Amino acid sequence: MTTRPLKLFNSLTRSLEEFQPIHDGEARVYTCGPTVYNYQHVGNMRAYIFADTLGRTLSWAGYELSHVINITDVGHLTSDADAGDDKMEKAAASAGKSAWDIARHYQQVFEDDLARLNVRPVQHPRATDYVKAMIEWGQGIEEKHCYRLDSGLYFDVSTVHEYGRLARAVTEDGEARIETVEGKRNAADFAIWRTTPPGEDRQMEWDSPWGKGAPGWHIECSVMSAELLGHPFDIHTGGIDHREIHHPNEIAQNQAHNCSEKSGANIWMHNNFLVDRRGKMSKSTGDFLILQTLVDRGYHPLAYRMLCLQAHYRSELEFTWEGLGAALTRLKRLVMAAERLPQEPGGDAGHPKLAPAREKFAAAMADDLNTAVALTALEDVLSTKKIDAGAKRTVMEDMDAVLGLKLDTLSRQDLRIRPAIAELIEAEIEAEILRRKEAKAAKDFATSDAIRESLAAKGVELMDGDPLGWDWKLDV
Ligand code: AMP
Ligand code: ZN
Repeated sequence: MTTRPLKLFNSLTRSLEEFQPIHDGEARVYTCGPTVYNYQHVGNMRAYIFADTLGRTLSWAGYELSHVINITDVGHLTSDADAGDDKMEKAAASAGKSAWDIARHYQQVFEDDLARLNVRPVQHPRATDYVKAMIEWGQGIEEKHCYRLDSGLYFDVSTVHEYGRLARAVTEDGEARIETVEGKRNAADFAIWRTTPPGEDRQMEWDSPWGKGAPGWHIECSVMSAELLGHPFDIHTGGIDHREIHHPNEIAQNQAHNCSEKSGANIWMHNNFLVDRRGKMSKSTGDFLILQTLVDRGYHPLAYRMLCLQAHYRSELEFTWEGLGAALTRLKRLVMAAERLPQEPGGDAGHPKLAPAREKFAAAMADDLNTAVALTALEDVLSTKKIDAGAKRTVMEDMDAVLGLKLDTLSRQDLRIRPAIAELIEAEIEAEILRRKEAKAAKDFATSDAIRESLAAKGVELMDGDPLGWDWKLDV
């Protein structure tokens, strides 16, 4: 099968590069997954919408995709710099549950959220299932690259070629971490293994040559990517914060283990942050938005996917409720156009009238996943006049296979804003709207106004004359 050319931005070289698969016709992608000690916030979910869009684009471009999004269920400390508690253990202690239960619970919530965002299912290996391989990896690199402290086995970053070239700011960053663990040779050195201190009780610990303990966070991704995708593999992704510490450390471990100067992946890609007015959305503040909050306020999860697709993944994106509302409206417009098309694709999808939109779409996605422009190409298709509607459906479905907005199954009703706290059920609202229509038709404006006011008192705003045909929405 022939493949389409794609240009992707490689953080290692800070430039656009032509995607060249290592294995003919295949694309192997590793995405750093969540630490499952808490809910993922919508900022985290942006990282997975980006990874999914990349995966979908690679499939569309003709590659057979192997994609891994790991589950960090051990090892991630409250500070990225090897200090503080294990996030899992801490969450378990404060919830009075076992760390294992906490991990399983939040993994399930995460996977449910992925499904709601129409992120395609991929492999989700758990770090705790790979501890043996992590220990073996540590043993393999110990002699040349590591040293021991009471607190564990540490990686000496001065032993590898150009440590931190991905971050390009190692010195300042490293200095910021200097006080963290006594005895480290270099500020940026990090733990491969964290030995349980005497007298401390950990729920998640394993025997190792360095004492009972738990693996460091960075080793997980090196090991799982190598086991499941082989080294080198094609593309490694994560949020932009990982460009500074976590990924440079993965690269250092890969270099040590593979006895190579190479990083372990050909292309490293990073999505920028979702921010709100206070700055980067982050879990440490404890005050963050999760997907369920959006749903509770009445927004369909795919409105959030639309919001993300409207921005380039390398740009910061500000979350506002107004922005989410606008994204929902745009999605609804697409769904309404799709509903007018016949159910079955057909006709001449190669029709010259559709060619400019198809070309625009292909060029946009091949240009480092420019989803913002690709969306406008999709809108061009739907607004093309005097052309077989079956052909439009075929092209729309091809494009939506990449964008993942579920245009083939969503209906206008699915996109109604209906918060969980609504006092009325939808059928009652519809009945009131009908009664009001009848009152209006009978010129009984007193009744019609009274109905409008009584609905407003219950939080339902009637949308007379809305161009998209929305009858009502809820004040949220
Ligand atoms: P964590 O569970 O903290 O390891 O984060 C999961 C993923 O979300 C990582 O790829 C992070 O880089 C990414 N991430 C964290 N905060 C944000 C944010 N505000 N916007 C976008 N991505 C984020
Ligand atoms: Zn990782």
